[in-house]
Amino acid sequence: MAMKKIFLFVFTFLSTTCVFGQSLFVPAEIRAAYEQGTRNENGEPGDAYFQNHADYKMEVQFNPATGFLEGDASIDYHNESPDTLEYIVIRLYQNIFKKGINRDFAIGEGDLHQGVELYEISAGNYTWNDRVKDFQVREMGSNLMVELKRPLYPGGKLSLDVSWGVQLPRDLTIRMGQYGRGNWFVGYWYPQIAVYDDIVGWDLNAFTGSAEYYLDFNSYDVKITVPGKYMLWATGDLQNGGDVYTEMILSRIEKARYSDSVVTIVGPDDLNARRVLLPKAELTYHFVADTVPDFAFACSDNYLWNATSALVDKDENRRTLVQAVYKQEVAFFDQVASIGKQILEEFSSSIMGVPYPYSKMTAFHGDGGMEFPMMINDADVPTYASTVYLTAHEIGHSYFPFYVGTNEAYYAFMDEGLISFLPRDVERTMLNQQDPMKPVREGFQSSSGRMNQMPLMVRSYAISHYPTYRLHAYTRSASAFSILRDYLGSEAFHRALEKYIRHWAYKHPTPYDFFNIMEQEAGEDLDWYWRPWFFGLNYPDVAIQHADDELVITNPGGLPLPVELVITAGDKEHTLGFDASVWQEQQEIRIPLSRYSTFQSAHLIVDEIPDADAANNQVE
Ligand SMILES: [Zn+2]
Repeated sequence: MAMKKIFLFVFTFLSTTCVFGQSLFVPAEIRAAYEQGTRNENGEPGDAYFQNHADYKMEVQFNPATGFLEGDASIDYHNESPDTLEYIVIRLYQNIFKKGINRDFAIGEGDLHQGVELYEISAGNYTWNDRVKDFQVREMGSNLMVELKRPLYPGGKLSLDVSWGVQLPRDLTIRMGQYGRGNWFVGYWYPQIAVYDDIVGWDLNAFTGSAEYYLDFNSYDVKITVPGKYMLWATGDLQNGGDVYTEMILSRIEKARYSDSVVTIVGPDDLNARRVLLPKAELTYHFVADTVPDFAFACSDNYLWNATSALVDKDENRRTLVQAVYKQEVAFFDQVASIGKQILEEFSSSIMGVPYPYSKMTAFHGDGGMEFPMMINDADVPTYASTVYLTAHEIGHSYFPFYVGTNEAYYAFMDEGLISFLPRDVERTMLNQQDPMKPVREGFQSSSGRMNQMPLMVRSYAISHYPTYRLHAYTRSASAFSILRDYLGSEAFHRALEKYIRHWAYKHPTPYDFFNIMEQEAGEDLDWYWRPWFFGLNYPDVAIQHADDELVITNPGGLPLPVELVITAGDKEHTLGFDASVWQEQQEIRIPLSRYSTFQSAHLIVDEIPDADAANNQVE
């Protein structure tokens, strides 16, 4: 918001002590975490903070012609918690396509099936399959509760083998699936151990479609076999390029890795001349990724491919390969690698203030907009500007929730809100866009103050009404973060944000940790801001009235918003401004008119401030 310069700091409230926790609602689970020292009340991880993790070694066969996938997973699960685990929870996301399961939306008949087929699970000498049932496996929605014959003690490791088969969706393409013949984006496809954390223990939320994910930071070693004509891209680094690609393709990838311009890896001629892949009946792609929250892959037998690299860490001279793979006819997808490079450099050097942590980013031309670690699955959108924004948003998720691992099922606003706000700065610089928050602000104000509303701290998975989810996860929260930055000032906000990222990189913060770090850096108690924005049903509406010899500005919506007004008196216009803290300790602002002797009119300027009711913004 470009109104800082005209602020009159008429009302100044200095707070010298931070008393966070005394007046905001803090649930018992979070209070217990402070008591146990897993988290500190200053917003940082505590000495007793723990996180479990797994090493996944998987061998997978995937047939793009049918969409059937079969795999063997050897999982080493490490219990870093102080608790003894009697069972473990395995997520089978693809069971959202199982007939009769609870889900947030209807799925067409063609994609429904009997669920993920579990051929065998074994833990040590114990086996579970069709014939042998040494232990109990109980299905709860898309989750499996697997009984452990021998409990997993603190500090212990469980080795688990799972073999399974699953039909992936051919029609529905929400987040993953088939995008035209021969083109697949495959996510949420393997048996994944759920998160066991210091707040609630096992995360037992079943996947029902709307609310997204909560993930540990794992290592992946994955071999995927596909028919010989398929190119394949995935999270992580390819280990055996020489077994799959021709020398020519490998040298182009290598060139792109250090290039500032875009290199064509696969053009139409290369596909026609069949000089991309080694001539084999089947190809096995071997990828390795460490400390990532998930693993996805995509394949195609007809996509084009270009790539460049982003200098993400100038001190270390570290570059990230940025590549795009797309259909032959596109509007702007052939520019996504170049756009992605600029975005990653902006994020790393200024917006996030922390270098993009991974070696690669692959943009797959699918549909909608969806993030995966080191990959995005996006539509080819009709304008350059919308391509920049969509790419920035999905790549932005690399930071939230993939680097800073918030629980999206609880607090979607912590990633969607930040990522509907922070990448808007990219539009400011790349597109010379003066008011990049406009679409977010309009979305927020048009649905606020209505029945749609829900306090942000309500857990996201409890909200299945989509317009409410949208307001909650995206527009209200993005506005809350944006106006917070206006109040704190860009420098203080970004210093605090960087501190939050660095403290919680590869960990699981809650919004309370964010609030506390912001307060530490701001040096003031911000409960007056958090309460109405995050805990209340307040909405954006400031009003102006003319009473006798004064103007009275009231706040019917009750959100702390900045106020800007113009008073016309005689032939002069006087502009006044107040920052959001003006509402900290008062319900109205009184402006005596004695000093404006020929008062004619006054109006609130709401060009860059959300306001749900335009009817109460002017007086004569
Ligand atoms: Zn998003």
